[in-house]
Amino acid sequence: MRVTTLGTGDAFGAAGQFHSAIVMQAGNTTALIDCGPTILQALHRSKIAADEIDLILVTHLHGDHIGGVPMLLLDYQYRSRRTRPLVVIGSALCAERLEALTNLMYGELAKDRRRFPVVYKIIRPGRPISIRGMRIHAYRMQHTDRFPCLGYRIEHRRNAVAFTGDTTWCDSIPAMSRGANLLLTECTDFDQRTPVHLSYTQLREHQAEIGAKRIVLTHVGDDLLRNRARVRLHIARDGERFVI
Ligand SMILES: [Zn+2]
Ligand SMILES: [Zn+2]
Repeated sequence: MRVTTLGTGDAFGAAGQFHSAIVMQAGNTTALIDCGPTILQALHRSKIAADEIDLILVTHLHGDHIGGVPMLLLDYQYRSRRTRPLVVIGSALCAERLEALTNLMYGELAKDRRRFPVVYKIIRPGRPISIRGMRIHAYRMQHTDRFPCLGYRIEHRRNAVAFTGDTTWCDSIPAMSRGANLLLTECTDFDQRTPVHLSYTQLREHQAEIGAKRIVLTHVGDDLLRNRARVRLHIARDGERFVI
């Protein structure tokens, strides 16, 4: 498995970092976890072709995680001229929201005008999906009540990588990271406590409960970056690659 942290910034683009987007390659499959508005720039910078993406996993429906979906479809329609299907996996609200967003941003990309089909699959906690040699488990995270917020654990052969998406500390984090090779966790703040995001000090308090071999921080904001000299966990950079 190879993981590329395309975008590691928070919603405010702290320190000029790209919005949330992570590419995971396993076997002959390329999955994108979240698709922030800066997706096309981030793909170019990492030299990953947009059309390589077989499926998108959506953690939740905030703009910094889905705002790039219409941009990706724009590339498929006019630049890479995709014809094969794109699979989008997420909560039950995903299809309606992403189609509405795409119609607002580019009416030219309405469903009946596309060169390629977008196939939506609903995933629910406790109901894993097997697709293209990967087993995908969803976990309920604690971020907002406006829509379901999911974290993912992706297993391929004997390896596993877990992604929290946006969340504050919750029991799903130990559950999803148990025995995983890598946990990519959001870490927006250094020590500010909010009910919606994680801070570094919270993660350190709970570190013994996290069963992953390696913890890497992403979705990092100004508060964390200001204090980076005091951070003892690895902070992902845009375009950084992790081989598992
Ligand atoms: Zn976010
Ligand atoms: Zn969010």
